[in-house]
Amino acid sequence: MSNSFDVIIIGEGIAGLTAAGLLAKKGIRAASFEQQLFGGLILNVNELDPAPAGGEAGGAAFASEMIGANADAGVTSIQEPVSAVAAAEGGFTVKTETGSYHARQVIVASGAKLKMLGVPGEAEFEGRGVSKCADCDGPMFQNETVAVVGGGDSALQEANVLTHYCAKVLLLHRGSAFRAQPRFVEQVQANAKIELRFGSRVEAILGGQMVEKILVKRTAGSEELAVAGVFAYIGLEPNAAFVPDTVERDATGRLLTDVTLETALPGLWAIGAVRSGCGGSLEDAMRDAKQAAEAVAARLK
Ligand SMILES: Cc1cc2nc3c(=O)[nH]c(=O)nc-3n(C[C@H](O)[C@H](O)[C@H](O)COP(=O)(O)OP(=O)(O)OC[C@H]3O[C@@H](n4cnc5c(N)ncnc54)[C@H](O)[C@@H]3O)c2cc1C
Repeated sequence: MSNSFDVIIIGEGIAGLTAAGLLAKKGIRAASFEQQLFGGLILNVNELDPAPAGGEAGGAAFASEMIGANADAGVTSIQEPVSAVAAAEGGFTVKTETGSYHARQVIVASGAKLKMLGVPGEAEFEGRGVSKCADCDGPMFQNETVAVVGGGDSALQEANVLTHYCAKVLLLHRGSAFRAQPRFVEQVQANAKIELRFGSRVEAILGGQMVEKILVKRTAGSEELAVAGVFAYIGLEPNAAFVPDTVERDATGRLLTDVTLETALPGLWAIGAVRSGCGGSLEDAMRDAKQAAEAVAARLK
């Protein structure tokens, strides 16, 4: 396999898969890199909302459809984490632990990861009650009470998913109102299994072999709540450590681009959840990918 490509796309989430496929269909030699399994944040979401237009409603099925189509279109898929990107003659060097690759243009589509609560017990009880995946781990909490932490779309969506399995879902939010889309707010308000608890901040996760309770600070006082599971969806942090420091970030660490989605380093583009200003949905990530693919293709002419 050659180590030299026209374009390297870092990340096989929906943004990266979309961009890589579009470029390959234009006859451009494209390689996509992935550190885990393709699909990114939606890999374990069984019911995407909204469902992608013309695509599968389940995250894994939607992503597999795309990776298959990309392979048919000629995308080289490389299962290695990218550790560094640097400007080089005629483009960029992209490094992994085991290899060094060259590309004329690079699209950073490395997305984001769910933030940790950062409280005692969270790391200790991971896999023993602390989870980030409602669809995968929900069935382990049949008829139990669990806590979901957060106030955005993901928290409310996943709280609803957990009611398929759990007797009760305590939805804890530190603010006094949700910032999720109105339809998700209406869904949780109408769900009799969800108990809304505003002004609540988780301070610690406690238990023995498994999670047994959480310590919660409320606007007035503190309380202990008996729960078997804790699912935190309190926002995302971008995966951008491998991007050179010369590329500016916003206050959240997301990469800054101009309106064409090119960073200040000519030939280095940023799309999807890693980019400052990208909306939070799949549709937004795919729109970014289409725009960048067009711009990159034009640049390569
Ligand atoms: C719980 C949850 C549920 C959601 N549900 C919906 C929904 O129903 N509908 C909807 O529209 N949106 C939903 N979203 C939002 C949606 O997931 C994002 O908008 C979208 O996934 C962003 O895609 P992306 O490709 O930019 O990033 P990501 O999905 O984060 O993909 C980035 C990929 O890059 C890889 N990567 C990172 N760093 C490296 C590296 N150094 N080297 C190689 N690879 C790397 C990652 O492993 C990952 O696979 C949900 C989000 C969450 C958290």
